[in-house]
Amino acid sequence: MERLERTFNWARLGGAALAFLLGPSFPNIGIGYVLGLGTFMTAYAGAVAWVLHSERRRAMFPRIVRFMFAVDLGIVAYSLLVFAADPEWTTYIVVTLLVIAGGFRFGAGGAVVAGTFLSAAYVAIAAYRAETYGFAMEAPRVVFHVAVFLIAAYLMAGILRELETLREQREAFVKATAETAMLRQADHIKSEFLAAMSHDFRSPLTVVRGAVELLLGERPGSLTPQQRDLAESAERNVRRLEEFTEQLLEMARLEEGQITLEKEQLDPVELLRDVVAAHSPLAKAKRQWIRLDLDGGPPAVVADRSRIAQALANLVVNAIRYSPTGTPIQISARRTDAAVRIEVRDHGPGIPPEDRQRIFDKFFRGRTADGTAGSGLGLAIARSLLTLHGGTLEYEETPGGGSTFVARLPVAIP
Ligand code: ADP
Repeated sequence: MERLERTFNWARLGGAALAFLLGPSFPNIGIGYVLGLGTFMTAYAGAVAWVLHSERRRAMFPRIVRFMFAVDLGIVAYSLLVFAADPEWTTYIVVTLLVIAGGFRFGAGGAVVAGTFLSAAYVAIAAYRAETYGFAMEAPRVVFHVAVFLIAAYLMAGILRELETLREQREAFVKATAETAMLRQADHIKSEFLAAMSHDFRSPLTVVRGAVELLLGERPGSLTPQQRDLAESAERNVRRLEEFTEQLLEMARLEEGQITLEKEQLDPVELLRDVVAAHSPLAKAKRQWIRLDLDGGPPAVVADRSRIAQALANLVVNAIRYSPTGTPIQISARRTDAAVRIEVRDHGPGIPPEDRQRIFDKFFRGRTADGTAGSGLGLAIARSLLTLHGGTLEYEETPGGGSTFVARLPVAIP
């Protein structure tokens, strides 16, 4: 607004300079009128510059801007009168400048007011000139000029509409960017908080577990059956808390990009055998068994052994936890194109369609989790770890029921 008024003011000074320079070429109107116009415009521009000069006076602008616009219209109408003594002069061009100025100050309404007012002034001047100076009141000339003024006003209104849309789009974009930045910041703070919290939880939990294990080992003295029950329950719960804090820490590290992979060339067969061996006791406790199907031995992958083992372990643990006793769990691995496809399949309830979109979200616990302890982080961590390796993790529809999770890892030598 302020910059615009400064620009208009420079235009006023330019107009005054023109009046002084060209005025003497129009002696038929009287040099006094021309110099009077130039002097008035200079004084007016000086007054506006004075208003613009101080912060306090600038606050007056919204109140006087309409009055100033009326003065500007008067000046241009008067200039038309002064300089139209010679019909060869195309002084009407000045009108479009005021149409633009009106548009920028007051929107489409300002452009239309300027166009209409100056059209009327132009018609009146043409009629007046016809008598005074023999300026022919030619209908085509007048119609042409008035049409140009009104078209200019119409175009200005269109441009302003476009500008308004662009401004709205820009504002929406700036707002969305600011919101995204804020959300990112909030997410970052949350991850940092989770990392700090889980880190601080770890040492005291280890101490508690150590103490409970000592109790269970009956080092401080023998336990009654009731005391043993209580100590065993304490140990189970401390372990769960430890697992949860470990998962929280891992998720926070993944989100903050703080995990560096120690990659090596790995034989998936060996890796899967280790994962199965580590989880067979857990399966056995539920009278489940894990079948390993290695179709001809899939090719090597380049991966961080412990991280990939951790991702696969999360899938296997879920298969054990969520499927009923006495059912098999199948793990298979084979090459497909440039990837090794590892499948973990169980004969449990499967993931209901309405949960499939969200099971990989952090902290999401599905309908099947009913009564099973967990944090909702296992699948989120597994997927992040696989993505970090350039792989993927998906849930696949399982014919005959149960769940199938499919992990893909790029092969070492494609
Ligand atoms: P958690 O198991 O701690 O809840 P996960 O991220 O590992 O967290 O799993 C998210 C949800 O997906 C679980 O709450 C469960 O409802 C569902 N889910 C995961 N694995 C299986 C599975 N093998 N069978 C049935 N449901 C599963």
